[in-house]
Order: sequence, then C-alpha cells, then structure tokens
Amino acid sequence: MEEYLPPHFRSLEDALFSLFGNGVKMEHKQRISGGDINEAYSLALTDGRCIFMKANTIENASFFSAEAAGLTAIAKTGAINVPCVLCRGADKEHGSFLLLEFIAGRAPVSDYWETFALQLSQMHKADTSVFVKEGNYGFISDNYIGSGIQKNTAYEKWTSFFRDCRLEPQFRRAADYFDSAERKKITWLLDHLNDILVEPEHPSLLHGDLWQGNVIAGPDGRAWLIDPAVYVGNAEADIAMTELFGGFSHRFYDAYKDTGLLLPGYSSRKNLYNLYHLLNHLNIFGRAYLSSVRKIVREYVP
Ligand code: ADP
Repeated sequence: MEEYLPPHFRSLEDALFSLFGNGVKMEHKQRISGGDINEAYSLALTDGRCIFMKANTIENASFFSAEAAGLTAIAKTGAINVPCVLCRGADKEHGSFLLLEFIAGRAPVSDYWETFALQLSQMHKADTSVFVKEGNYGFISDNYIGSGIQKNTAYEKWTSFFRDCRLEPQFRRAADYFDSAERKKITWLLDHLNDILVEPEHPSLLHGDLWQGNVIAGPDGRAWLIDPAVYVGNAEADIAMTELFGGFSHRFYDAYKDTGLLLPGYSSRKNLYNLYHLLNHLNIFGRAYLSSVRKIVREYVP
C-alpha cells in the first residue's frame, strides 16, 4: 500500500480554520457508534453546521486516503449521493482523521428502493476510463475491504482480475485453515474461474462493500453511499454483496433487474463473488466464517 501522509495540523481546530475560516470553532463533539474500524464523531460547529469525523491512528492514515479516493470516484459519476470529502488530516489528539459532510438521515421517500436501484445502475453504467490506468478492471490505487488490503492492479479481463486480485490473495492468507484435499479443490476453482464467471458487457465502478450498513437514507430521503471499497469490476459483484448479509428490499432487486445489468446466470455466480467477502471475514474475524467458505467451494468444485 502506498503511503499518503495526511497534512499535519496542530489541532482539529486548525483543520476547521483551514476549511471554514476564522471564527468557526467546534462547539460539541459526540461519539457515533456503528463502525467496525474507526472512531466516528459528529462535530457541531459554532456557525450551526454539523460535520462527520472518523479517526484512527497515524499508522492507519492510509484507510482515509483510500476512503476519500473512493468517495471522490463515486461522486465523479454524478449518479448517486455520497458525503462530500472535506479534509484529511492528522493531529496529536486524534491521530489521523477524515472530515466528511454529515448525512442527516430522515425517513426514506416512498420510491426509495426503486430510485436507489436506478441510481446504482447509473453509477454502474458510468464511464470508468478515468478510474483505471492501462486496463479495464482495477482502480488507480489499492484500497481496503474492511481492514484487509484490497489489490487493484489493472487487468484487461474481469475473470483474471477477480482471480488474481480478489480470490487468490484471500485464499493465500487463509491457507492454514485448509487441508491438502481442500487446497487442491481451491486450486481447481482458481484454474476454472474462466468457465464459471462471465465478462461483463462493460466495466462498472463498484461500491465494493455494498451491504445495508453502508447505505443511509439522507436528508433528501434518498440512498446515500458511505464507506466504499471501490474498484472497477463486474456490476454483478456489487449486487451479490447486497444479498450476503440480510439483503435489501425485493423492490430494489426488481428495479435493478429492469436495468439490464445482470447477465443470464447471475444467480449461479453470486456465491462465487461473495466467497471473496466471506474469505475476507475469515481472514479478519476468524473461524466462524470457515463453514460458509467451505460450502461455497464445494458448490463450485466437482
Ligand atoms: P467504519 O469506517 O468504522 O466502518 P462507518 O463508515 O461504518 O465506520 O461509520 C460509523 C458510523 O457513522 C455508522 O453508524 C454510519 O452510519 C455513520 N456515518 C458514516 N458516515 C457518515 C456521515 N457522513 N454522516 C453521518 N453519519 C455517518
């Protein structure tokens, strides 16, 4: 992972000064629960504004350069709302931090799921040429999936990218969980990915970690995306992930189907995409995910 050192401020107040000018100070800082990795806060400012802050150690500053790059990429598509990136920085008190527009949630509008599906499909249809250098799939920089590193080397073919940058590094990290018969099956699976996965009609910018916790009904009552692990890939992988931990309303899936982005046979590939996330959970959180991983490997290997 490349090092992107954030600008160092004497204090958070100095960062606020650089953003909003003289006279705007922090009135109140409140801890927000819900995140797995970072400390999250809402900052109420003296001019009535509220902003969102995530903080972590200086050593983990690259989480925030990756998150800022992902949010900026999604914003560039103009398809769906993400919080505006205000500032990345570091100070003695908080370590490294990321300041974002605060999403003041409200009740979803009546066509929330249909509009979300449409906006997501527009993001998936956006031009991706600015997001990958010298290839079709990948991203301009590596980033993180949870706390795990996510390789985004540019590739011409989706199936090669998914094998070399997604499944293979996770299997390698998890090698000690498998016996030799299982390792043989895994090798077989990686060697036969071309026969199971399909190349999409065009590459798509993906959120990359699209589960319920990373979608908020924002001030307009529409879906806002947070905490992305973006890369350019096959849109099917984003939809598969939405189905992994609980799923969205059936209205979302009905509307997304109408956009024509899911190719025939999607449901037979879905679990293979989600194998990546389950392996990542196995590597980060441990054995609780092993049986789900084994089940999917058995599903695809004769
Ligand atoms: P982590 O990086 O630790 O996973 P999250 O991105 O999940 O943290 O955010 C932690 C909490 O803050 C969650 O409850 C999430 O809904 C909320 N949150 C995230 N981004 C914003 C934002 N821009 N405005 C308001 N709340 C936010």
